[in-house]
Amino acid sequence: MSDRGRDALAALGRLLDGPGLLHEPEDLAPYLNEPRGRFHGRALAVARPESTEQLAAIVRCCSEHELAMVPQGGRTGLVGGASPINGELIISLERMRRLRSIDPIDTSLVVEAGMPLARVRQIAAEHGLRYPVSLASEGTATIGGTLATNAGGNLTIRYGNTRAQVLGLEAVLPDGRVFSELSPLRKDNSGYDLKQLLIGSEGTLGIITAACLRLAPAPRQGVTAMLATHSLDQGLALLRQLRAELGETLSACEFMPRLALDFVLADQPRARDPFDRVHPWYLVVQVESALAGDWLKPALLNVLESALQGGRIDDAVLAESEQAALDFWALREGISRAQARGGVSLKHDISVPVPRIPDFMQAVLSELERAVPGIRPCVFGHLGDGNLHFNLSQPEGLSGEDFRAREADCNRIVFDQVHAVGGSIAAEHGVGQLRREELARGQARKLELMARVKSALDPAGLMNPGKLMPVRP
Ligand SMILES: Cc1cc2nc3c(=O)[nH]c(=O)nc-3n(C[C@H](O)[C@H](O)[C@H](O)COP(=O)(O)OP(=O)(O)OC[C@H]3O[C@@H](n4cnc5c(N)ncnc54)[C@H](O)[C@@H]3O)c2cc1C
Repeated sequence: MSDRGRDALAALGRLLDGPGLLHEPEDLAPYLNEPRGRFHGRALAVARPESTEQLAAIVRCCSEHELAMVPQGGRTGLVGGASPINGELIISLERMRRLRSIDPIDTSLVVEAGMPLARVRQIAAEHGLRYPVSLASEGTATIGGTLATNAGGNLTIRYGNTRAQVLGLEAVLPDGRVFSELSPLRKDNSGYDLKQLLIGSEGTLGIITAACLRLAPAPRQGVTAMLATHSLDQGLALLRQLRAELGETLSACEFMPRLALDFVLADQPRARDPFDRVHPWYLVVQVESALAGDWLKPALLNVLESALQGGRIDDAVLAESEQAALDFWALREGISRAQARGGVSLKHDISVPVPRIPDFMQAVLSELERAVPGIRPCVFGHLGDGNLHFNLSQPEGLSGEDFRAREADCNRIVFDQVHAVGGSIAAEHGVGQLRREELARGQARKLELMARVKSALDPAGLMNPGKLMPVRP
């Protein structure tokens, strides 16, 4: 450890109690883990503040000692954003997880950043409300992490991403000052909306400590259906019909190919194929209403009957119980894990304009097949918002190592087409360390403006260096 590191640690020790500052290797180890095991950095220590004031003091101390910081939530991020690189101080929000207030008239709540997303959803449900962001990782992902990455999820088509839920924000800026705008106001045009800069900034502009979040009415009726189609063109025609006939009740429209279903059926002993025939594509559709009654199910049935007759779907199964709905969702949510059964998977979290999905898919997949014959596309995701988890499983005759060696070529094919159709190379998981070079390659102008904002707020570059943008020399 350098003298500077030792001095910083001693100063931090004066601010934090024993559990507030961890620096033994065995204590640090869990904070270096990330879901895909791709990033292996080193940290000086982990600070675990209990309040905004304490966190502000830590940040001031880091600023004085020129010690870089890595904000950390639940460590479920998939792009290495919460992993240290070279001896930074990890600042974990795990001890800041209080509910500060909830207002059922205003339909909003104020929570601290370390509260897990699932807990926020549970608190909202206890008040007959809904926090409409839902991720498979919600038991561990925190509010701070979901704000810092502007997390998406299955309900984006109806409610928007995390950004759309945030009314107010509290954060500690890189110099230790507290930015506090925890207001529940829906209308406030008094100047720049500064909280929006912090949302999606992946911990590079400050550390989010609390947020005032908008809540929606809880659904009182809902139906989930699994549908089979033979093409994504068909899927889009159905999406159009669902929107036209069921309006805002459409809260999810997910898609997956047969290969994904095969992986999940092999991976989950309880899982059952809802259909008696094999189909190329499947959709999971969910409609919900806050109005009481049971009119939504017949309304959806009507749409599906006409879609069957019009050739927009090939088959449909409605969930007849809550468990059946959960089983359909388990098929969709189980893909990421089950894909390991197909060996090495090259993953791309991209988005493209919804109407262009079929052409985009055809163009990229034929180029990929020419580059790596036998490559097995397992592309699934959120049809309704254009977010494709563009995952590629290794060809059956190729070793994992040889397939991994083709990763750069595959990435180039996928990302070139993404740029060509005006899509995004980082749709919901963010940029982190994983995609920072690609962002620099494809969006140099944007990166230059981002760098100007970064140096205005964090001139010393101490807040999560090496994430989102290349490290400054
Ligand atoms: C099984 C699984 C399913 C997932 N599904 C989805 C999905 O559907 N949609 C989606 O968008 N993502 C998904 N993710 C990715 C991940 O869950 C999200 O990115 C989530 O928002 C990360 O939250 P976290 O608390 O774990 O943050 P972390 O992983 O700890 O951190 C993520 C980033 O946010 C920064 N950060 C964390 N806390 C703060 C804070 N308080 N202030 C400032 N910066 C902070 C970190 O520095 C890092 O850059 C999934 C991940 C897994 C493992």
